[in-house]
Amino acid sequence: MRLAAPSVPARAAGCTGPTGAAILAVGLAVVLLGAGGCWIPVRPGVSGTVALPAAGPDSVELTYLGVGGWILRRGRDVVLGAPLFSDPSVLRTGLASVRSDTSAVNRYMGRYDVAGAAAILVGHGHYDHLMDVPQIARRHAPHAWILTNRTGYNTLGSWAGVAERIRVVNDLAGDERHAGAWIRLSPTLRVMALRSNHAPHFESFTLYHGHTTRPRVEEPRWASEWLDGDTYAFLVDFLDAQGGVVFRVYYQDAIAAPPRGLAPDSLVATHPVDVAILVPATFDQVDWHPEAFVENLRPRWVLLGHWENFFISPDEPTRSIFLTDLRHFTHRLERVLPGRWYLPDRWTRFVFAPGAARSPTVQRSPAVDGPPIVRPSGYRVPGPPRN
Ligand SMILES: [Zn+2]
Repeated sequence: MRLAAPSVPARAAGCTGPTGAAILAVGLAVVLLGAGGCWIPVRPGVSGTVALPAAGPDSVELTYLGVGGWILRRGRDVVLGAPLFSDPSVLRTGLASVRSDTSAVNRYMGRYDVAGAAAILVGHGHYDHLMDVPQIARRHAPHAWILTNRTGYNTLGSWAGVAERIRVVNDLAGDERHAGAWIRLSPTLRVMALRSNHAPHFESFTLYHGHTTRPRVEEPRWASEWLDGDTYAFLVDFLDAQGGVVFRVYYQDAIAAPPRGLAPDSLVATHPVDVAILVPATFDQVDWHPEAFVENLRPRWVLLGHWENFFISPDEPTRSIFLTDLRHFTHRLERVLPGRWYLPDRWTRFVFAPGAARSPTVQRSPAVDGPPIVRPSGYRVPGPPRN
């Protein structure tokens, strides 16, 4: 059953984003450049095609496009995690206007056939997740729903030309205790949003935080006008003909402070997550990321996304984003994950195929240089999440 067009009431108030946006933007540039000056980057662990065994009867492909961008494909069922190809520089992002580079979007997205994509997942409204979505939706995935939050809906407003294709997930989402509504995209594909949140970027400060409460009539000009709104993660289920789960993917596009972002245990008990797409950037701003997610989702594999420097062209060699000690993150991940994890280069294609041998590609763990860690044995979902 196809989705009905959403109805989202407009509100009287305008944007309620941070004031002094220009000052924040300059601060971002200064902080990022300062941190970048002494940073030792981490390179991708895998590239090209990585073949892994599938538990089900069919092959599933996950292709990393950089930042929050993924193509999740099983046969004719295709879902996109919203990519960013424009990649404005840190100086431009901090000090000048930013807008989608539609030629870059066409160049990189055009490498893939996503014309049959049923949905584009956008967990929050920051520019690096939403800015290129209109061009992708209009030109490359013309039948896809855009599943995002109310702020994302209002940010794209009337100027982007995709309003009727946006499904606001705020009132459909589940949380760590309760299942949300399954959004059925085809007889063999469904998605559920999960209430998550967005970790601070540094020192408990979250850039571009706020809600856009009225549909915009003009395209945002500044990164600071792409507010995050409430943040969501997603479960994507590929189903068999009887509705059973064949392959389950968890997708997040921002670090979350658990229990926000977790899936209800009742759901995971019926089918643990096959692949968890987790974000390492700024993980040290919250507690128990990734440990709580591994314990909750029980993933067979973890693929790391949104880990690389996205202030440079996609054609440049991929290297880790500053402000995050990726070696410490992956060490903590290894301590709790029974399965395998991968740090993919842009354009890496993971193929989960029946009977496939373990990938001959060796994922090397970066050396540990972070502070000692304590395994969260006995971690329990604390009381009701804070808003
Ligand atoms: Zn963000």
